[in-house]
Amino acid sequence: MTEYDIQREMSKIEAPVILFENVSKEYQKGVAAIENINISIYKGEFVFIVGSSGSGKSTLIRLLMKEILPSKGKVFVAGREIGRLRRRQVSKYRRSIGVVFQDFRLLKDRNVFENVAFAQRVVEAPIREIKRQVPKMLSLVGLTDKYKAYPGELSGGQQQRVALARALVNNPVILLADEPTGNLDPKNSWEIMTLLEEINKRGTTVVVVTHNQEIVDRMQKRVITLKNGRVISDEEKGRYKYAKN
Ligand code: ADP
Ligand code: MG
Repeated sequence: MTEYDIQREMSKIEAPVILFENVSKEYQKGVAAIENINISIYKGEFVFIVGSSGSGKSTLIRLLMKEILPSKGKVFVAGREIGRLRRRQVSKYRRSIGVVFQDFRLLKDRNVFENVAFAQRVVEAPIREIKRQVPKMLSLVGLTDKYKAYPGELSGGQQQRVALARALVNNPVILLADEPTGNLDPKNSWEIMTLLEEINKRGTTVVVVTHNQEIVDRMQKRVITLKNGRVISDEEKGRYKYAKN
């Protein structure tokens, strides 16, 4: 048992940080995108969610962001049922989770520093806090010398690092990544995954949706496999299973 294993076992004594309880989602009546999902993710875990296109991976992420609501069941984050959050609490909730996407979603007309600082401005962080946090995040993702660059002047890998710095700057409890390496070459994909692992080691719970079999097989993390909207396997130190429809 490594230190990491012990930490994981200890954290299970607490309530899960993410809990899907009998969750189904129908975008159209009678057509289930996900069906009766039960997943518990504990504080400090690193979890891959895999499955073929259309299996429901992004639906899970969107439910966690409260971008969409379940048709049945409940979603809990940090002990709170997010379906019960009032409108005013929702934006605050969303800012308490970090999210990155395949297409980076940076502000094209703002430089790197501003893109990261923006996430702090919306939570009205004091200037001195922004001045302290942004350089710290840029250093974490290895972009200190690019702070003045605009997204258009950066490679895909660098843009995803900026997106990561922005997702982390408010110190979220969970980091959600929906195919974060989908637009990257193998070298940059590894660099992003290594960063996600580093972030996880610092205590953030990380959930990564991916199609990258090589990465999943080599990283030896928990792997949850979806097929047609259902969990067909959930393994510690799992491998990538291609779930054919
Ligand atoms: P994945 O991310 O695994 O590719 P999704 O969660 O995006 O899968 O989609 C799961 C299922 O839900 C698919 O059949 C998809 O077509 C359907 N779906 C996703 N988003 C919508 C939507 N906005 N309206 C209708 N159907 C949708
Ligand atoms: Mg998807």
